[in-house]
Amino acid sequence: MPILDRRHFLSLATLAAAAHTLPASAPAPAVSPGSLKLVFFTDTHIQPELQAGEGTALAMQKIRSLKPDLCIQGGDHCFDLAAVPRDRSLMLLDLYTKTEQTLNGIPIHHVIGNHDVFGRVPSTGVQPADPLYGKKAFEQRFNTKTYRSFDEKGYHIILLDSIQITPEREFDAMIDPVQLAWLAADLAATPAGTPMIVVSHVPLVSAAPQYSLPDDKAAKAAAYQALTNLHGFLVGNARQVIDLFEGHRVIAVLQGHTHINETVFWRDVPYITSGAVSGNWWRGSRWGTPEGFTVLELGAGAVHWRYETYGWKSPEPTPDPLPSIAHPTLSPA
Ligand SMILES: [Zn+2]
Repeated sequence: MPILDRRHFLSLATLAAAAHTLPASAPAPAVSPGSLKLVFFTDTHIQPELQAGEGTALAMQKIRSLKPDLCIQGGDHCFDLAAVPRDRSLMLLDLYTKTEQTLNGIPIHHVIGNHDVFGRVPSTGVQPADPLYGKKAFEQRFNTKTYRSFDEKGYHIILLDSIQITPEREFDAMIDPVQLAWLAADLAATPAGTPMIVVSHVPLVSAAPQYSLPDDKAAKAAAYQALTNLHGFLVGNARQVIDLFEGHRVIAVLQGHTHINETVFWRDVPYITSGAVSGNWWRGSRWGTPEGFTVLELGAGAVHWRYETYGWKSPEPTPDPLPSIAHPTLSPA
């Protein structure tokens, strides 16, 4: 049991359990949904520095003790496959894989994050012809497609790929047209009334820009424009995705990337952004959210969730950056 420090107390007091119950008018699912405990952990950003391997292992020890039915890793497994040389990326992937094995066989599904794109930046020396370039390393290492869906105990779970590599080897946070068409078909093929969970590394919906911006209309407008274009902080074409949810029973959308624990409800859907296992990238809390993960309990047509810390103390903490932000400085996490 971790020691209750100030940050842990705050997490318990202010990030307390939330619940979302389906409207009574929703149609009954084709398959009666059972009970399911799901741990959504995201943004591990593993690396040898700052004892991040030990930190991730401690998080997994806590996850294991909760005995979930399954885990979803929400992206950004390593820091930083996109920007470091090939050998270091391979070392980081090995470190992550070895650490994840401490979950001792709990089923786990992986979602791709912006830092999981192998050799994206030209300065890595990785060529596009490399057999691991881009998303191939993720697909091979985790033996998965970057977007897919599966069914578990009467719930339909959809994992999205919110990272698109541009010809300039930058990335756009968006859901591409081919994936949108797949999503529409996947939703249409799911029996009416089936409760669904959607996962996206980059948030479809978040209020995070509101938390950092100065009370200045011009600055706020400029920052929003920068944040919501097709690059970076939020999924640029989120509305196209959200419109596809209409008429379906999406009971939760799980998101990562910002490292800030928050939930926004829109059209009766909770968009749950989880804090990060790495907190402020292994230097303490980020914008008031300590290192942690989200636990979801599903059953009887309702989903309950809570944010859990796991008692990590950074060996080199820095002050939480939120109080020092005087100007829009959001950048992709
Ligand atoms: Zn990210």
